[in-house]
Amino acid sequence: MTHSGRCYCGKINYEFEEPIYTQILCHCRECRYISGGEANASIVISENNFRVTKGTLKTYAREDLEKPRIRFFCGDCGTHICVKSPPRPGMLVLKVGTLNDHSWFNPNTAIYCIDKQPYHIIPDGVPSFDKTPPAQ
Ligand SMILES: [Zn+2]
Ligand SMILES: [Zn+2]
Repeated sequence: MTHSGRCYCGKINYEFEEPIYTQILCHCRECRYISGGEANASIVISENNFRVTKGTLKTYAREDLEKPRIRFFCGDCGTHICVKSPPRPGMLVLKVGTLNDHSWFNPNTAIYCIDKQPYHIIPDGVPSFDKTPPAQ
């Protein structure tokens, strides 16, 4: 199945094919800069199954980290679209809020709950981890 999405201003459009490997709520401090304060809702897909169909993504990586994540965003409106994470080679972590339809999002893992704030509510039945699940 093909999913499509865009940035806030519409200058970036993208598509990707399934599979969707995992559906995540991340509670880490860094993600709150990007989510606006709530847990960061993301999915993990194959880099090879993702394509930009309009516009060009800009990238950002922190210079003070040894293995920084590479963040892809719209240079005009600043919408954060996806991340390449060194611990997940070949994968992209995509922000579900940029998908045209994300009503199906159903998180199966809550991560970095060690940084969780009192107002963050994890849905019942979603396994939560202080950092990431041991298998990953
Ligand atoms: Zn934009
Ligand atoms: Zn995070």
